[in-house]
Amino acid sequence: MKIHEYQGKEILNKYGVAVPRGIPCMSVEEAVTAAQTLGGAVWVVKAQIHAGGRGKGGGVKVAKSLDDVRQYATSILGMQLVTHQTGPAGQKVRRLLIEEGADIKKELYVSMVTDRVSQRVVLMASSEGGMDIEEVAASHPEKIHKVAIDPSAGLTDAEADDIAGKIGVPPDSIAQARALLQGLYRAYWETDASLAEINPLILTGDGRVIALDAKFNFDSNALFRHPEIMAYRDLDEEDPAEIEASKHDLAYISLDGNIGCLVNGAGLAMATMDTIKLFDGEPANFLDVGGGATAEKVTEAFKIMLQHPGLKAILVNIFGGIMRCDVIAEGVVTASRAVKLSVPLVVRMKGTNEDLGKKMLADSGLPIISADTMEEAAKKVVAAANA
Ligand code: ADP
Ligand code: MG
Repeated sequence: MKIHEYQGKEILNKYGVAVPRGIPCMSVEEAVTAAQTLGGAVWVVKAQIHAGGRGKGGGVKVAKSLDDVRQYATSILGMQLVTHQTGPAGQKVRRLLIEEGADIKKELYVSMVTDRVSQRVVLMASSEGGMDIEEVAASHPEKIHKVAIDPSAGLTDAEADDIAGKIGVPPDSIAQARALLQGLYRAYWETDASLAEINPLILTGDGRVIALDAKFNFDSNALFRHPEIMAYRDLDEEDPAEIEASKHDLAYISLDGNIGCLVNGAGLAMATMDTIKLFDGEPANFLDVGGGATAEKVTEAFKIMLQHPGLKAILVNIFGGIMRCDVIAEGVVTASRAVKLSVPLVVRMKGTNEDLGKKMLADSGLPIISADTMEEAAKKVVAAANA
């Protein structure tokens, strides 16, 4: 799950990480009042969406008067903000963060991620902040420094100081940077985050170290033990089909193609999408009905898939292990009737009660195209989608 920058900064603040003073707002009037409340002479008006690259996209503006604040808030609120992370359609801006303007002397980069290879939380840091870290990784890999943190020790003073020095924090500010990095680590660890990124982390003219941006992702499997993080969820930022799917306990991800895939198990979902791609098709989604797919669940899955605007065909690819093929067949038939299926449907079933399942599909009278192998199924569904 993702959250907004201002929410990330609330978390950082709790862990003693210095952030600029700021106030989230939902309207232009609130934005102007927020700037007055903050005081000072320079404010930054920041679009709050679940995507980075807002600055380049025109979603972060420096205001030097209350009139500027009003003008920027008016133009940013409600805009369709396009960044390299939103896709071409962009994301509608519904919230702003009004923040005090910081005196930036240098922009740095720090982040934490869970590294599956070392099985540790890895701190990544660079002197090259404010830009895409992917670009730095490609052009100057030597400028990215990493530490794999020992979970029993946490981020040690020595490790924090070493990294801070490597990214150019001056000696007088090292103690502050250490506290910030250790706070960031504790925030990451204690909230079950899967990503915490501060880009930029800044050095100010008077030697302070401050987190100017905050991006957090959380492990959704751990959210049950973090009601305070769940409270940050903003459904406006999520795909409506994915929200609907999560209510029915279906793992669903929207993609750009035109072939719907209904599969049981994430591994089979990946293999199915790969096979479709191999035969020049494009999946419209990743939908995993899981182990206990009932007829109701399959019906909901069909309904969700049919909301996809570009959907041209559906492939049901099921392995009947614990799940029996006849139960799936029943679900497919019931669902096809219930939703009055309007696109071609290809079904491949293997495993327990396969013959019975296939017979039920054949006897249903529905125009279901059946397939025996993955290859045959993929070829048939790609042909159906292109017809
Ligand atoms: P994004 O990463 O989505 O573009 P950031 O929060 O990183 O958004 O803001 C983009 C840039 O705007 C920063 O690199 C920084 O130069 C500037 N900026 C952001 N917040 C402030 C602030 N409070 N004071 C001064 N400049 C800021
Ligand atoms: Mg940023």
